[in-house]
Amino acid sequence: MPFYETQNIQIYNTLSGKKEVFKPIEPGYVGMYVCGPTVYSNVHLGNVRTFMSFDMVFRYLKHLGYKVRYVRNITDAGHLENDADVGEDKITKKARLEQIEPMEVVQRYTVDFHNILNTFNFLPPSIEPTATGHIIEQIELIKSIIDNGYAYVVNGSVYFDVHKFNESYEYGILSKRKLEELIHNTRALDGQSDKKNPQDFALWKRAEPQHIMRWPSPWSDGFPGWHLECTAMSTKYLGDNFDIHGGGMDLKFPHHECEIAQSQASKNQSPVNYWMHANMLHLNGQRMSKSTGNTVNPAELLSGNNSFFSKAYAPSVIRFFNAQSSYRSVLDLTDDGLLASEKGFHRLMDAIHLLDELEAGDTSTFDVQKWRQLCYDAMNDDFNSPILIAHLFEASKQINQVKTGTATLTKTDIALLKTTMHDFTFDVLGLEDQVSSDSGTDKLSGAVELLIKLRQEARANKDFALSDKIRDELAAKGIQLKDGKDGTTFSVN
Ligand SMILES: [Zn+2]
Repeated sequence: MPFYETQNIQIYNTLSGKKEVFKPIEPGYVGMYVCGPTVYSNVHLGNVRTFMSFDMVFRYLKHLGYKVRYVRNITDAGHLENDADVGEDKITKKARLEQIEPMEVVQRYTVDFHNILNTFNFLPPSIEPTATGHIIEQIELIKSIIDNGYAYVVNGSVYFDVHKFNESYEYGILSKRKLEELIHNTRALDGQSDKKNPQDFALWKRAEPQHIMRWPSPWSDGFPGWHLECTAMSTKYLGDNFDIHGGGMDLKFPHHECEIAQSQASKNQSPVNYWMHANMLHLNGQRMSKSTGNTVNPAELLSGNNSFFSKAYAPSVIRFFNAQSSYRSVLDLTDDGLLASEKGFHRLMDAIHLLDELEAGDTSTFDVQKWRQLCYDAMNDDFNSPILIAHLFEASKQINQVKTGTATLTKTDIALLKTTMHDFTFDVLGLEDQVSSDSGTDKLSGAVELLIKLRQEARANKDFALSDKIRDELAAKGIQLKDGKDGTTFSVN
């Protein structure tokens, strides 16, 4: 029996609002689509959190032995400002401001996106298709929606007829919104719009003369609407009905709602069996927002070069911090939280190193088999990584007790414990043994900690000339000391 058949995964499905037993369409195979970034600026840390959560899902399914086709797209056209149907294309706008080709914008930020994800030890998806590479598929999709009577053409643009669709299907089925409420809550059209109703959304937009990114179509030279690309690319590579569709909570409406409508209107088929949504990332208890300045980007978080955090954090510490919350909870990024995660991460790594030094006993005082299944149970329960980490900590405690002689494990159990710890820590959670293996960094930390201690002694002896000298000379070498209520920390610039 394949290993995945011994495990019973439950996934919280946004569509039904409850946990459901996961049953792939093809036994042994999983098709998973996750909405990728719009590449017009450096990737947002909140998006990194979403992709990190789905990287863990991808890793766990692969670990169980499923053959997973993971498709994550790159939006390089069609995404208008404010996620709306009017305004400028985000990539075109950036290109105009910087006087470069739109594809230069796309290239620059796609490279940035990949660099950041590599730093965080992401597995690459199986396919990473682009919107501009699938214009033909999108045009074909629009044709079939028009043929089925759910879209109309006005002045070279094509709009999805939400009201007509709602007569046969249910618009709002995913986000639990009713069309009547949407009508009540949206402003009437101002007479400038080509749309019949404000709830309708663009499938194709005729390009204004100044719009650079444009393609010929039966309706006009123009470009596809943002929601359309994901329907075109997900169904092309995964089939009209596939297993898992993921994305950030903010995409549930209208983006994912529109994807469902487009699939039903074109193929009379609900596209996705399990809709998964990762929750938002906050910074110090507040939503991240560029306009309020409450934001930090991934590079700033990793370098320590920001005004929110006392130091730089290793990518694996940030991954560990993310995994300590469920992907369905709001995650609040704070310095205290990261410092605690860093400690926990080191504790886990230390225990894994200790595994190589344990001496086997005749009996085991810890049931490794049972513990191992608890680790699987945690992940099977909607990828509950915080519970998994609690089990890894329990094992760490046991490892320390065996080392000090207050517990014993047989040779077989030590081997099983080691395999399982490695599987979950490195393969499933995607952590890397970075900090400990980087002995250069370790030695530097040790040396700076020693200087911090000498400086404290100098201050205790009221030798402020010496204490200032230590601080200033370290600063001249790019090492900043920061005095806080819990002692002195340092960051390397
Ligand atoms: Zn999408």
